[in-house]
Amino acid sequence: MSILPEPVSAALYLVAAVCFILALKGLSGPRTARRGNLIGASGAAIAVVTVFLSTDFDGARLWLALIAVVIGAVISVPIARRIQMTNMPQLVALLNGVGGGAAAMVGLIELQEWAGTAGYVATFATAAAILIGSMSFAGSIVTFLKLQGIMTARPIVLPGAIAIMFIGMAITAALAIVVAITGSFGWGLALIAAGLASGVLFVLPVGGADVPIVISLLNAFTGIAVAASGFAMPNTLMLVAGILVGASGTVLTLAMAAGMGRSVVGILFGALQGGSTAGSTQESDRPVRRATPDDVATALAFARKVVVVPGYGLAVAQAQHVLHELVTALRSEHNVEAVYGIHPVAGRMPGHMNVLLAEANVPYELLIEAEDANPQMPATDIVMVVGANDVVNPAARDDPQSSIYGMPIIDADFAGQVFFFKRSMRPGFAGIENELLFDDKTQLVFGDAKESLTAVNAALKEV
Ligand code: NDP
Repeated sequence: MSILPEPVSAALYLVAAVCFILALKGLSGPRTARRGNLIGASGAAIAVVTVFLSTDFDGARLWLALIAVVIGAVISVPIARRIQMTNMPQLVALLNGVGGGAAAMVGLIELQEWAGTAGYVATFATAAAILIGSMSFAGSIVTFLKLQGIMTARPIVLPGAIAIMFIGMAITAALAIVVAITGSFGWGLALIAAGLASGVLFVLPVGGADVPIVISLLNAFTGIAVAASGFAMPNTLMLVAGILVGASGTVLTLAMAAGMGRSVVGILFGALQGGSTAGSTQESDRPVRRATPDDVATALAFARKVVVVPGYGLAVAQAQHVLHELVTALRSEHNVEAVYGIHPVAGRMPGHMNVLLAEANVPYELLIEAEDANPQMPATDIVMVVGANDVVNPAARDDPQSSIYGMPIIDADFAGQVFFFKRSMRPGFAGIENELLFDDKTQLVFGDAKESLTAVNAALKEV
């Protein structure tokens, strides 16, 4: 016997759905993100408790469900606590895959319970949940393996990949139609197998550094699979939550692609058309001007306005705390107007720099979006590029032949002087040379960003 009457559980599902919407709103800005996350987690907790209190479990099934919850929590809580910021995309990929797999399982169980008695609308939605959910599961596992370095991050293009893709799509679509018409559990199993194979084939040709975008797309897939499951069951909360995840995942995927000045189709299928999404790691041997931490400290202390442009290397070096120390010292002890210029795709995941700098308690008002930072560049004395590269590459603005042409950048080259903090002459993610490194106004500080910035901090105390 369920404890909650139907109207009460429906009202609690509504509260949970409102929490999810408020969570998305909160997550749209760094200032409100923490609160948004808590509201979303509260919504999920309300939803889970409501399911338990409003479902007629027979005794054994209740215990199975509770044991599954405990196993899930025991595995995921320590992982979530220990995860490094740079490994976050892998974790998101895994969690997303589990969500897609769960949606596919729910669809399969529905087929078994209906035993061919359900209407076409319900079986159509279930076929969609099984197909999209299993694709998302398998695709997410491959993205995890690529990012974790367990398999090569290079695009893998099988011989005859385009033919395999079209034949695979035809077989998968045919199986989905058979499941939608017959509602057969056996064909449902075949559809799962086809969905898993499609998920793997879908992600193999994507180069490692493009994988975060694919994770966002698979996240949208999982949302659609959950919504389809919710529609078939029917369960309003799954429907609403699935639509929210599907819509926000789609918006995020498009925003990331726009931030990189590329199309989603190009990112997914570029390697199949002969282009590679993997960048070169070749080091340039052209001469550059170098600076020591002492040179940087002296220049900074006498500057009026400084913009720090952080990038992926800041996360690798875990230099956010020493960078914050430097900016704080410049502002409070040297009266320098020092701020951070944040590019939307700096790092390897959306909001990467915001999260990293928030970890070091950098005040939000010091974070300036690229479009607001750019007009200030001609009046900026020094730009410090810390572990960034592509996001300040002028080729994206000036060279129509460049592979990153069209990607919005931070116009560091319009400032008076540029200090680049990096370890070598290796290029950034896009694998292309950055002319700004060779510009007369640029000096390089070679070394790990954390070590170099620690040395600058020490030198600044002597100025
Ligand atoms: P880049 O990958 O262009 O450059 C990173 C730089 O950091 C490199 O020049 C590297 O040089 C340096 N670096 C690495 N480790 C360290 C270290 N320990 N200390 C100092 N420097 C270090 O990063 P950006 O942030 O400028 O650009 C992000 C790129 O990622 C863009 O091309 C974007 O399109 C792409 N991307 C972004 C996504 C997102 O959502 N944010 C998703 C997918 C891709 P060196 O090795 O010499 O030290």
